[in-house]
Amino acid sequence: MAAAVVAVALVAGVGVGLGLQRSQDHARLQAEASASAEVAASARAQDTAAYGAAVARAGREAGAAARGAARDALLAAVEQGNETLAASDGEVADGAVRDTLAEVLQRAKHALESTPAASATTSSEPAADGESAAALRTLAAEVLAAQKAVQTAHDEWVAARAEQEARKAAETQRPRAPGGGSGGDRCETTYDGPPFYTSPPTRGGDGSNGRLPESMLQATSWGVDPKGTRYWLRTEATQALERLNVAFRATFGHDLDLDLTYRDFDTQTAMRKALGSIAAVPGTSKHGTGYALDVPELPCEYGWDTPQRAWLVANGPSYGWVQPSWALRNGSNPEYWHYEYVG
Ligand SMILES: [Zn+2]
Repeated sequence: MAAAVVAVALVAGVGVGLGLQRSQDHARLQAEASASAEVAASARAQDTAAYGAAVARAGREAGAAARGAARDALLAAVEQGNETLAASDGEVADGAVRDTLAEVLQRAKHALESTPAASATTSSEPAADGESAAALRTLAAEVLAAQKAVQTAHDEWVAARAEQEARKAAETQRPRAPGGGSGGDRCETTYDGPPFYTSPPTRGGDGSNGRLPESMLQATSWGVDPKGTRYWLRTEATQALERLNVAFRATFGHDLDLDLTYRDFDTQTAMRKALGSIAAVPGTSKHGTGYALDVPELPCEYGWDTPQRAWLVANGPSYGWVQPSWALRNGSNPEYWHYEYVG
């Protein structure tokens, strides 16, 4: 190794004199080359900087545009939310959904205040403070979801109120007898016994009292009792009652109210047990034949001196429906609600 180093040094020494001039030229050339490389590098650096600036500027412009769009969307959502909040005041069943909307609207308002509008941001400015486009978009989605929840609750409230008002209107349209109670539409039943209901046809009934099969009966086209049972009568009695009801409705604006029609043997037995002698002996009730009906025991609707009873007593006979003499006010067992079909 040492011998090789000496040899190289000797060769180099010989070459010094010969190569001096060449070496100086070389250095000059090298300096010149280096200078021009620096210029080129500098130029390249400037280009790169300019390019970077352009990219940054474009990026800022794109960012500002995205944020401006997100801000506009949030603003639109807030306006919609504010409108819904104002329109639903006191008109939702549960105020919690409105509280949620008010809270998110408050946060959205702060975000809008701290984020400049797109027109106020120029591309040469650095990104201003405020919420990011993504944050604004998230907030807008939150506002819209809360707004939708309030809108749904409000729609439900409006529908419920409309239904309630329709019911009330239907109630007040019903005629009330004069003197039917100081409360105007107070009409309390005179019946205070245990509840009994009308009967469906008797399955396998043999046609005897309280045991009428469906083939002998027909239900009225209107009305069901509180248990959902339709009002069954002997077919011809129902058909006559249908015609009577058309005339009744033309006069009073609503169907004839029914309480009990056909009553089966078991129900009559239970009634006799509960009410004693005012209920017929099982097997003898006219209701067991399918030829009797009771209107509700409501004195102000169907009581002795009501227009409804007066109409039924006057017009019923032309349809075959009458009050038997025992049921009249001076009869043996006064029942203003009881009518029978006599054909
Ligand atoms: Zn009756």
